[in-house]
Amino acid sequence: MTAVLEARHLSKTFPARDGKGVVRAVNDVSITVGEGETLGIVGESGCGKSTLARMLLRLIEPTSGEILFLGEDLLALGPSGMRARRRDIQIVFQDPYASLDPRMSVAQIIAEPLDIHGIGSRAERREKVRALLDLVGLDQGAGGRYPHEFSGGQRQRIGIARAIALEPKLLVLDEPVSALDVSIQAQIINLLDDLKGRMNLSYVFISHDLSVVQHVSDRVLVMYLGRVVELGPAQQVLEAPLHPYTQALVSAVPEIDPQQRKARIILPGDPPNPEHIPPGCAFHPRCPKAIGICKTDMPVARNGETHSAACHLL
Ligand code: SF4
Repeated sequence: MTAVLEARHLSKTFPARDGKGVVRAVNDVSITVGEGETLGIVGESGCGKSTLARMLLRLIEPTSGEILFLGEDLLALGPSGMRARRRDIQIVFQDPYASLDPRMSVAQIIAEPLDIHGIGSRAERREKVRALLDLVGLDQGAGGRYPHEFSGGQRQRIGIARAIALEPKLLVLDEPVSALDVSIQAQIINLLDDLKGRMNLSYVFISHDLSVVQHVSDRVLVMYLGRVVELGPAQQVLEAPLHPYTQALVSAVPEIDPQQRKARIILPGDPPNPEHIPPGCAFHPRCPKAIGICKTDMPVARNGETHSAACHLL
């Protein structure tokens, strides 16, 4: 499979709030996204997944690492080169209301990327907006209305229409359905699935919700406190998780079939705080399987039978 995106050893540090140290939001993360592939990234709030998403588009500049898009070094591009490359990499945010300018009509919002990149004549742009409304399941009358007139699901359709207006190759979807009701989530996921096939898109799909990630992803990457703790084909990671953190996440996914229900693993301790990353394995204060070495030595990723995880028990 041709790699559309490769990020190597990406890290991002921010100054700590107390002004004394640094927060390692993303720490030595490497990912590859193949053509037509959906890579799901899952983890709790504060694990660094949204910072990673923004770094892939250089909305946040990495502290170190490399990002290759179709083999081109994105971090070596100047502002105009990066602007041109953004045609191919677009992002959809969690809150469609906050990401849509309330003073612009839906047609203006969807046409904005075409205007910025000077694509087509006015008439061609109008036609393109009509086609995009159709593609995302909105009626033609929607173009003349404003974001506040729409429901959350419809607003996310508008956000998606804008993101695909330039016919990108890669969409970074940052919690795209988390703010929506479950029934609407399913509609948006079906829309994304349909668009992926029609437009040969690749997705980086970020979510804290493992059941959503399981549904959409070819491969799944699990993050904990800025690091990758498990990576592999979606089915293997979710049906036979290797890392105790992933095992806890999987155990919390509701299972309709009573025969398949597993005992829920409740993690002790506080949720992760990237300002205070524990030494050794960062998960050790909450890990039900921790052993002595976990407090002092950071585990490296090792290959299991089907996929990899970073745990001393492997
Ligand atoms: Fe748990 Fe130790 Fe594995 Fe970390 S390395 S996940 S603390 S067993």
